[in-house]
Amino acid sequence: MHLFAPVDLAGPADLAGFTIACFNNQKLQMNIFSERNFAKITFFYAVILVTVLTLSTGALFIVNKFDTLKRDIVDLEQRFITEQKEQVKTDVLTLEAHIASRHAANERLLEQRLKGRVEEALMTAKNVHSTMIERLGEKAVAEVIREAIRPIRFNDKQGYFFIFNLKGDVILYPANTSLEGTNFFTNNVDGGPEVISNLIKVALDGGRGFYRYNWPKPGDGTGNRSAKLSYVTLFKPLGWVIGTGEYIDNLDSLNQKTIIRELQDSLRGDVTDYFFFYELHNINGGQNFATMLINNNRPDLVGKKISDDYVDAVGNQFRKEFLQGIRENDEAFVIYWYKKPDGAGTGRKLSYFKLYKDWNWVIAKGVYFDRLDTIIAAKKEELSIKVKKDILSLGLIFLAGVAISLIAAFYFSSALQKILDQYRRTQEEHLAKLETLNSALEKQSNTDSLTQIPNRSFFNQNLQRAIAEAKRYNTPLHLIIFDIDRFKTINDSFGHLAGDSVLKELASLVAGNIRQSDIFARWGGEEFTILAPNIDREQAVLFLEKLRVLIEKHQFSFNRKITCSFGCSMHTPAEASEDLMRRADEALYQAKNSGRNRCVLR
Ligand code: GH3
Ligand code: MG
Ligand code: MG
Repeated sequence: MHLFAPVDLAGPADLAGFTIACFNNQKLQMNIFSERNFAKITFFYAVILVTVLTLSTGALFIVNKFDTLKRDIVDLEQRFITEQKEQVKTDVLTLEAHIASRHAANERLLEQRLKGRVEEALMTAKNVHSTMIERLGEKAVAEVIREAIRPIRFNDKQGYFFIFNLKGDVILYPANTSLEGTNFFTNNVDGGPEVISNLIKVALDGGRGFYRYNWPKPGDGTGNRSAKLSYVTLFKPLGWVIGTGEYIDNLDSLNQKTIIRELQDSLRGDVTDYFFFYELHNINGGQNFATMLINNNRPDLVGKKISDDYVDAVGNQFRKEFLQGIRENDEAFVIYWYKKPDGAGTGRKLSYFKLYKDWNWVIAKGVYFDRLDTIIAAKKEELSIKVKKDILSLGLIFLAGVAISLIAAFYFSSALQKILDQYRRTQEEHLAKLETLNSALEKQSNTDSLTQIPNRSFFNQNLQRAIAEAKRYNTPLHLIIFDIDRFKTINDSFGHLAGDSVLKELASLVAGNIRQSDIFARWGGEEFTILAPNIDREQAVLFLEKLRVLIEKHQFSFNRKITCSFGCSMHTPAEASEDLMRRADEALYQAKNSGRNRCVLR
């Protein structure tokens, strides 16, 4: 019994069959889907199902984990960049504020210094004037005061006191004594009239004050003017404006030098996320666009002119990038590759650049991504440990699943197997019954119910076959028909039942005296037929006679004797069954007509 259609063993389109190529290249085909394999199949499918489910869930899970990690890393980098941007910007702005405050403090110091000097000179003038005016008169006193103040010089003789009166007449001008006696409004000192009138205005307005302007430097023959801060007071008794000033660039360069030195010292230890400063010469870039002022990572560059065409490890010209930002917004964030402070190659870094306008400095600070890389590596490591653990758990779940499915499949399939076995047994029993019934029915359909010998239908079937065999093997075949003589009288005299029992007894008598190969049947009524193969004519004559005598001599149970008449035909080559039958019948007719209880053979 098959669950599926039985397999055509040679068929290529064998869907239910299972083909295994063997080493001898023959194909071994098995019908694996039989109920006998049910337990194995169920188990096999369960294991496959559990494997597929576990592996797909596991794969999804792990892919998802790595996706999350990827997102986390992107987030982390974004957060790191944002945090570091804020941090370096704050650091740079703090340092800028520090520099600005140092700058301002120095300016205030300068102011105080200028103010102190001038007030001192004014005090001297006042003292000289008050003590000497009566004795010497105004002109001589003025001379004394001027000459007392003249030699006072500061800053390597760059600093001096100047005096002029409210009309602009030059009283004291140590930078160029030849101008003394001239007038600043007419002596062609470049910018003189405007500066002098403003200084007079400051002196008149409240008696003292600061004024910022541009003025030629002593001994500088170029005609260039430099920024200068001056403090002036009004010395009323003589109508003089007494003042002194200092060139701011001198001061700035001093300031800058001090600050650079201080910063270099204070930043010396800090080379990891270090500050670096440029002094800009050309905000548009180019060769020598700046001088490196501070850079503890590259002490070799400090004090050197640098160019903007520096190319980093990935081909970016970060100096051009930061210059653009400086030009547009006074600041810039740039990510680029640069030498690492520990000397281990280059590293990706994020730097903030800020323009300190007063001095045309670019203050910058960068942070390397190493820390981020370390954090990311740690996170990856953490995740890989977690994923390994998860894989282990999945493996255990998988094994548990396999074990459960093994047990479940075992119980399920053995239960199913029992049902199938039961079903098969019932089927087999039914089949056996059916076969018995079929053979009984077949026997019944071929048997005469009264005499229990083969009937006419069975005889006819065998007649065709016997004729075919006789033709094929060219063997003799005789067909005998015999009929009880005057049977009607038996019925009439002894009744039908007696007639029936005669028929039965006769059938049994003849059946017991013929060959196994002979076919004996009741043709109908009290007529019988015998098919006798493989006997020749003489043997047939003997056989007929033997039967006739046997019947004639037999004592039937109703205590009478009966006789039969026999007609026999011998099969001739190519003769049809109807003709053979007809000839036997004619022979019987002849036997009847010629006196009964005799045999006629044709
Ligand atoms: P004949 O010598 O010419 O054959 O004479 P007969 O009386 O035998 O003639 P016929 O063949 O005409 O009669 C046959 C009789 O057999 C007729 C019928 O009543 C009887 N018969 C046929 N079949 C049965 C049967 O099954 N049982 C009984 N008891 N009688 C049957
Ligand atoms: Mg008859
Ligand atoms: Mg008869």
